[in-house]
Amino acid sequence: MSTQHEYSFFDAVLANFDKAAKFTNWDPGILEQIKLCNSVYRMHFPVKIGDKIEVIKAYRVQHSHHKTPCKGGIRFATTVNLDEVMALAALMTYKCAIVNVPFGGAKGGISIDPKKYTPYELEKITRRYTHELIKKNFIGPGTDVPAPDYGTGEREMSWILDTYTSMKPGEIDALGCVTGKPITQGGVRGRREATGLGVFYGLKEICSMPDLMEKAGLTVGVEGKRVIVQGLGNVGYHAAKFFREGGAKVIALAEYEGAIFNTNGLNEEEVRQHRKKEGTILNFPGATNITNTAEALELDCDILIPAALENVINGENAPRIKARIVGEAANGPLTPDADEIFIQKGILVVPDMYLNAGGVTVSYFEWLKNLSHVRYGRMEKRFTENQNRNILSQMEELTGKSVGDKEKEIIMHGPNEADLVYSGLEETMIGATREIVDTWKSNPDIPDLRTAAYVVAINKVGTSYEELGIFP
Ligand code: NAD
Repeated sequence: MSTQHEYSFFDAVLANFDKAAKFTNWDPGILEQIKLCNSVYRMHFPVKIGDKIEVIKAYRVQHSHHKTPCKGGIRFATTVNLDEVMALAALMTYKCAIVNVPFGGAKGGISIDPKKYTPYELEKITRRYTHELIKKNFIGPGTDVPAPDYGTGEREMSWILDTYTSMKPGEIDALGCVTGKPITQGGVRGRREATGLGVFYGLKEICSMPDLMEKAGLTVGVEGKRVIVQGLGNVGYHAAKFFREGGAKVIALAEYEGAIFNTNGLNEEEVRQHRKKEGTILNFPGATNITNTAEALELDCDILIPAALENVINGENAPRIKARIVGEAANGPLTPDADEIFIQKGILVVPDMYLNAGGVTVSYFEWLKNLSHVRYGRMEKRFTENQNRNILSQMEELTGKSVGDKEKEIIMHGPNEADLVYSGLEETMIGATREIVDTWKSNPDIPDLRTAAYVVAINKVGTSYEELGIFP
């Protein structure tokens, strides 16, 4: 399967924006300001790899400053280019607006194949990139806050944090300069699984809506749904995990070297262990191999979750997709042609810019934790437990009956950090899903959920500009 750009990703975002802008009443100047990228930083820097000097190409794009700081992940991949970074930065603005996270959109990327470098070399590249960002004021807890994306994770975020703090000694909120950090370095519990969990919460809410399910020819609820996930990375792995735990059957998992299929369902953790040991997802016990991985997308299923890279479903393969719902966990997995084909085929597309917003939502919680310098739940956990214990013992005294040990534990439980993060994420995803679906239903001319999501985002960013006024 090709992940190369056959067309401009940013142009596709602009086309989607224009399609939705027709359903809003904003001044054309405001619309122009919302859709273009405010600041674009393209850089080249030298890094010594072995005894050679390599020139590394990298980017950081801040799409919108209607709210600050800007926020967006950093991608390490050979496919990284300016067009892609601009598109992803724009999607971040709309994503943050939809889930009411008070940030402007940004994105960064380094055009390298991380698999070709040793950890030491990757650390040198990441630290040098961070230096470049600091030099141009493109990073900081109040200006621009990166996070992980394709090809990066907690390790890279730690290197960024360490570089930043060593350059800004004494800056009290420095921990908030990057999110997606390990818990021991100011990260928040729940961040690692946040995007996959948000995908699950979003699709679960969609599956609970009887009218949408009837249109899709499916029963209400997640239980028993046949799910296919492409990409067993951070997002795909966790999406598969929460769907399996929620009672769905993950019937196929696709990686770049191949895919596996089992109608009885696959356990993502066992598959991950198998892949780690064997170096391939193929030959998993009890599953059928699909050597051409792209074919996994075309299998019969209820929910298809592309969670790898963009443009994987396009005009060529979209006519062969049999899923009833496509949940865009990755950014931009569908091209505009695929969107059109799915509208005609009645396949419900749940769009990336809100469905995968779990990561940025929990990044926001992490940033708040860093600014408040205290772990969620630290102040109230014991207090709540003591209160619950008092209420429970009063009830037992008044009724003369006693509650079992297991139930007692459940009733008394005071919230810890993960409980609060999960609950905040669920609330956010349910709220966003309902807002987008209501907007879609409010106007029969809005063709799909993606356009509805853009309408919601444009209205929120537009309101910001209107209320703040335009600087003379
Ligand atoms: P990741 O690097 O952890 O995982 C991506 C996985 O996809 C890898 O296992 C890779 O081998 C696999 N893959 C690559 N090409 C493939 C192909 N052609 N077929 C099948 N599998 C393939 O990355 P991630 O963080 O999980 O991000 C995945 C997507 O989700 C990206 O589009 C990213 O922008 C988006 N996203 C990520 C986050 C986050 O919090 N990590 C948040 C929002 C959106």
